Order: sequence, then structure tokens, then C-alpha cells
Amino acid sequence: MIGILGGTFDPIHFGHLRTALDVQEALGLEQVRFLPLNQAVHRPQPQASPTQRLQMVQLAIADRPGFVADASELQRGGASYMLDTLGHLRQQLGTDTPLGLLLGTDAFNDFLSWREPQQVADLCHLLLMTRPGYQLPQQGELAEFVTQRLRQAPAELTGPGGRIYLQPVTQLAISATDLRQRAHQGRGLAYLLPEPVRQFIQSEGLYSDTTGLR
Ligand code: ATP
Repeated sequence: MIGILGGTFDPIHFGHLRTALDVQEALGLEQVRFLPLNQAVHRPQPQASPTQRLQMVQLAIADRPGFVADASELQRGGASYMLDTLGHLRQQLGTDTPLGLLLGTDAFNDFLSWREPQQVADLCHLLLMTRPGYQLPQQGELAEFVTQRLRQAPAELTGPGGRIYLQPVTQLAISATDLRQRAHQGRGLAYLLPEPVRQFIQSEGLYSDTTGLR
């Protein structure tokens, strides 16, 4: 199975990297593709430019075989819909390759507001990772959606997509929002993200003005 982790990566941090590695190891993913989005649909636009966010992803994963930076959403331009991204990947990889979309529980809670969520969930398996402070819904439409598709063991993730699996991951209460705030306040970012990314933020003077605060 090929894993996909989409995000703003504004900036990428250990909360993305360690959890992606946990999922990769637990499910034996051949590859995890990190896809910086171009334009956000459901949230304020990122502060760092698309090129800077891609560069930070590349710096973060440079020494890890099996982690791949994928610029396809940036190259496509415009608003980034996961439906289009998966369609594009299916064209590249064919219809039979299992795809696993890694999603933190915060991002998953908005899933039904995505464009064509049922179609997205048919095109890939949803690999949910619990993020500190965010639980899976216990009732309502999204909870029912989970119940219908949830499988208890990785071996049950048969076929190219359509199932949901809940993967326990290292709990890291790190968010890009918090990192931008720290940078803005002149506080250090060490040990929260890879050192080359920290140095890049410093040398580019990223997140020092107020536009990145929200
Ligand atoms: P921001 O604070 O700007 O919203 P973020 O830290 O949530 O950013 P994103 O790039 O928006 O980072 O997240 C991309 C994906 O990674 C989402 O699916 C999100 O749930 C997941 N993710 C981010 N941080 C963590 C974490 N600490 N633990 C588990 N999943 C995470």
C-alpha cells in the first residue's frame, strides 16, 4: 500500500513525521508521499509560499528512503481537492494499487465537508491517527460513516480502497500553529521539527510577522 499525507506543512514538524513512520511501520507501507497543498479550501491560506513549504518537506525527509515529497498539488495549481489528487494518483498507479490516506483525527472530523467524501473514501483506505486533544466522533453522520467502513485488523484492508483503519501512533501535541506562534514570539523551535527545517525557517525569516498567526 502507498501512503499519502496531505497537509499545509506550514511548517512540517515531528507530529507529521513520527506518526507517518508509525503508520508506515505498522502497515508495511512501501512509500509515504507527503503532498503539500497548493491552496487550502477549508482553512486560512498558509503563510510560507508553496515552494518554501515543499523545500521544508524535502529537507525533513531527505534521509529517509520510503518517504517521498510529491509536488503534484502545487504543479496542478488552484484549490487543492483530495478528490483530484487521488484521481491523479490513480492515473499514475492504476486502479488496483491500494492507497492509504493518513489523516489526523482533527482533519478527519471535517471529512464530510470535503468535496465528494464518499468517492474519496472509495478511492483509498482512510488511515486515521489519533491526535492529542481530538477524538473520533461518537455519534452523528460521521460516526456512522466510520462504523460502516471500519476494519479491526490491517489484513482486512483488502482491495484498493474503501475501508477505514484506526492506527495508534505516538502522541505528539505539536502543531504548525504553535510553531508559527513560537517563531513570531522569537522563541526557539528546536526539538519540535527537524534541524534543517529549523535552520531554513531562520534563514528565510519565516513566521516572524503577524500574518502567520491564527
Ligand atoms: P496547523 O496547526 O497550521 O493547522 P498542523 O500542525 O495541523 O497545521 P497540517 O499540515 O495541517 O499540520 O496537517 C496535515 C496532516 O497531518 C493532518 O491530517 C493532520 O491531522 C496531521 N497531523 C498534524 N500534526 C499531527 C500530530 N501532532 N499528530 C497526528 N497527526 C498530525
